[in-house]
Amino acid sequence: MSASGTKKELTFDGIAASPGVSIGIATVLTRESLEFPRKEISKNEVEKEIKRFKEALKETRKQLESIKKRVLNRLGEKAAELFDAHLLILDDKIVVDEALKRIREECRNAEWVYFEIMQDFHDAMSDIDDEYMRERGVDILDVKRRVIRNLTGRKSLSVTDLKGMRIIVCHQLTPSQMVMLDRNAILGLAVDLGGRTSHAVILARGLEKPAVVGLKRFSENVKDGDRLIIDGSKGRVILNPAKGSLLKYRALQEKYQKFQQALLPIKELPAKTLDGREVRLAANIDFPAEVESALAHGANGVGLFRTEYIYLNKSELPSEEEQLQEYQYIADQNYPNAVRIRTFDLGGDRMGLDTESDEEENPFLGWRSIRISLDTPDLFLKQLRAILRSSGRQNVRIMFPMISSFEELIQSKEYVRKAMAELEAEGVPFDPHIEVGMMIEVPSAVMMADQLAKEVSFFSIGTNDLIQYTLAVDRGNERIAKLYTNYHPAVLRMIKETVEIGHRNGIWVALCGEMACDLQVVPFLVGIGLDELSVTSPLIPEVKKLIRSLRYNTTKRLCEDIPRCSTAKQVEESLQEFMQSELPEISEVLLPEVENNKQTVEG
Ligand code: PEP
Ligand code: MG
Repeated sequence: MSASGTKKELTFDGIAASPGVSIGIATVLTRESLEFPRKEISKNEVEKEIKRFKEALKETRKQLESIKKRVLNRLGEKAAELFDAHLLILDDKIVVDEALKRIREECRNAEWVYFEIMQDFHDAMSDIDDEYMRERGVDILDVKRRVIRNLTGRKSLSVTDLKGMRIIVCHQLTPSQMVMLDRNAILGLAVDLGGRTSHAVILARGLEKPAVVGLKRFSENVKDGDRLIIDGSKGRVILNPAKGSLLKYRALQEKYQKFQQALLPIKELPAKTLDGREVRLAANIDFPAEVESALAHGANGVGLFRTEYIYLNKSELPSEEEQLQEYQYIADQNYPNAVRIRTFDLGGDRMGLDTESDEEENPFLGWRSIRISLDTPDLFLKQLRAILRSSGRQNVRIMFPMISSFEELIQSKEYVRKAMAELEAEGVPFDPHIEVGMMIEVPSAVMMADQLAKEVSFFSIGTNDLIQYTLAVDRGNERIAKLYTNYHPAVLRMIKETVEIGHRNGIWVALCGEMACDLQVVPFLVGIGLDELSVTSPLIPEVKKLIRSLRYNTTKRLCEDIPRCSTAKQVEESLQEFMQSELPEISEVLLPEVENNKQTVEG
């Protein structure tokens, strides 16, 4: 255990990923490796070894049951079934008896024996020419890893047995690990890798816990039990904080919580500026269960449902019926407000389809998103049919991700027509006038916006990708995080132009990238006339508060000023100046200090 005051206080700066302050004890999740000791044991040690093995099996069962429960709540029954398969493998009598026999007869430690048996079990499964059996092979490896981890006393990244609330420290988090974290057991997150808009970080924001990412080699400096402060608004982590820092951050934490409380009364009010311009404020959701949080935070519908997460951690694609259930639930819960269901955006830094071609040199420039859907018509049609079937109450919209050419849009719409024709022939009801729109997240789509606009009912600007593709900066790479900026004039010009083109063609223009959560940019986004901003639910009250404090006529000034800037620095200064002169009180509480994302270690 560390005691603050006896150890040196160290400050690390990374990337602000999820706002708020948390103060607590660290649990460090080590990088996944399956190294374990191979030991011969004496006859006298056999019973002790057997006991240790049985305890590891018991612990594994406990973990699997707890994960299953969590996945059931979050992702539904089908996803939870995977863990039934894991439990069956764990309790397989032949495997367990064989392990006990070998420990006894061969006098070798449990890790060694269990590893061998499970590896043989896996190899035997992989040789069977049956896809289902081969998939069970992956489950066997998972169970093997988990039992060996418990034998060696290592924690897994999908830690489920946190004792008390902890700050999670780790090198990297993937979206599938993220979904396993229990929001009731974590105080905050400090992660070495990742950028502000990497998908794991977007999920972290949904947990409503302060998080800092892009901390480079921070995790190597921390041990279990060390005390930490996470300032998720500034992107700062303090290890072994001294008394002065603890006092300062406790005060800041209180101030932040009070501010959040003060926002509650505006929940039911519209996001309308002082001079009467309403901007629809919707929620981005990644799982159907997040609808609750969206409604609790006063969302006006769903601006983006990332459907690919219903596929997460499953070995099979969800059926049409399963998808229908999810979509229908979201549509019903939000009725009469609109719900934009985005078709699968697989690939990139998210899971791909389970094929060998998943391994790509440049996954963000590869077989991703709408490209996968257009290449796998069965998958695409099944999803479109499910979306259409959920549209009976006319509040569902279809949205295509990552359209980069006119042909892609036309082909995608063709599939909608095909799905409609099928349903019609089957006598299944749906909304025949369903609005179909597209994301603007590739520069080519901005350049073609005038023609694309004639084919859709709405645009939704995805700045997370638009920034990465316009600036050639990987959104998840912390080494170049300084180059990934919301303030690049090229990006802001593109957004303004997209809104103008959309409006000239009589269509609605929304923005659903993380830029809409950057309060400094919101006045500009309002000023250029966006019809809707869609943000992570917990941030809705702050964005609403800001919009309700603005004057639309004043924000229009920014539409002239910002596109004239030559550098991101000038843009940021103009936006700050606007906030400080127009809304000094809000900018004091809501805006993080402007600092470089450099790593500082102070003595
Ligand atoms: C975006 O790119 O801005 C977006 C909203 O899509 P995603 O973050 O899911 O790629
Ligand atoms: Mg995107």
